[in-house]
Amino acid sequence: MPFSTFGQALGLSDELVRAAAELGFHSPTPVQSAAIPPALRGTDLMASAQTGSGKTAAFALPLIARLSRMARPSQRWPRALVLVPTRELAAQVGEVVRALAQHRSERLKVSVVFGGVSINPQMMAMRGGTDVVVATPGRLLDLVAHRAVNLSHASLLVLDEADRLLDLGFADELHRVLALLPADRQTLMFSATFPPPVAALAQTLLKNPVLVEVPDSACTETATQRAIAQRAILVDAPRRTQLLRHLIQCHQWQRVLVFVATQHAAGVVAEKLYKAGVYATPFHGGLSQGARQQVLEEFKDERWEVVVTTDLAARGIDIAQLPVVVNYDLPRSAVDHVHRIGRTGRAGAKGLAVSFVTAASEAHFRLIEKRQGLTLPRENIPGFEVTEVPPTSAGHGGVKGKRPSKKDKLRAVAAAVSVEPPATRTA
Ligand code: AMP
Repeated sequence: MPFSTFGQALGLSDELVRAAAELGFHSPTPVQSAAIPPALRGTDLMASAQTGSGKTAAFALPLIARLSRMARPSQRWPRALVLVPTRELAAQVGEVVRALAQHRSERLKVSVVFGGVSINPQMMAMRGGTDVVVATPGRLLDLVAHRAVNLSHASLLVLDEADRLLDLGFADELHRVLALLPADRQTLMFSATFPPPVAALAQTLLKNPVLVEVPDSACTETATQRAIAQRAILVDAPRRTQLLRHLIQCHQWQRVLVFVATQHAAGVVAEKLYKAGVYATPFHGGLSQGARQQVLEEFKDERWEVVVTTDLAARGIDIAQLPVVVNYDLPRSAVDHVHRIGRTGRAGAKGLAVSFVTAASEAHFRLIEKRQGLTLPRENIPGFEVTEVPPTSAGHGGVKGKRPSKKDKLRAVAAAVSVEPPATRTA
């Protein structure tokens, strides 16, 4: 069973392994493999891990496991505290802890508290006692001032996004919270980076910490996978833009040509990326010639990181050092695929062509592979696990919802003619 390897490798109980499997966690991410065993032993930890690397479960799983083994000096006051810098993160972390604790024989009460909303419901919710508090520092201090919570038994502390918590904006509140905790405690710190001043400060809060560093931790694909010229990545259709952004950031792709099916999609995807902080712009036949020219020139001058285009850019344009091409939507035909991926890897440079394969386009991609005479391994990117199921009536393998255009039909005829044996061709 795949999820038993999670448990065997990391020494987690069946209840936790089962809950993890229900969240789709069948094998540990690198940061989980590195952080969970020392955290289970009760050691302090300073872990560098990006958001997206599985860091929440890396501290939530050992936290829950440790609580099962620890004495319960008070029915009322929390034994564990998770500090986070934002309310969104508080809500998210609280949910993960609850989900991972759901199969425990003894119910674990998790309270999530953050500012910007009324304090009363949070005070009421803590009345019956709590085991784990997930909090932003300011609101936690307010609750302490109202005597709604007492931290003197919280002997397990997690600082999530510790670099931000140790930053000047939070430092004062953080130190006030730390003063309320027992001196004899286990502290787990997670942060994307530990710049030297933060690392120095962090060390003063930790006792003989184990350092866990998972470089580029959000990018858990193997080096072999990266070396291949073509990749096929499985993804749910609605998550393609997110995945694209993730890959761009992970691999620090500087210049990417992204192919989509329609002019409209080019606009939408480029805009979403732009709003998410990626310099992206559309390029398609709906733009004036002048605008198209400008986009290409600016792309060549490295003023855009990403150009999102229709098949207009599949032929003829030559951008030196275009390292990556992405099929966000698959091309209609194998011929178009060859043209699209031919935009990269030019003039002896190394190129990479990535195709996003969804449940609905899997059959179509198999046809493209067949025509090219290759079979690519399907990749799953951690954090983008597929949940969609293939449509049952997609037997023909075409792109769903798209009927062949006149051009497609002409191309099909041309392709058929070109594979006929020479003898049957007439002048
Ligand atoms: P985090 O870094 O905690 O925000 O997690 C990023 C994403 O990875 C979330 O969508 C988690 O659900 C997912 N995730 C965490 N651990 C695993 C795992 N072991 N296997 C698969 N997905 C995971």
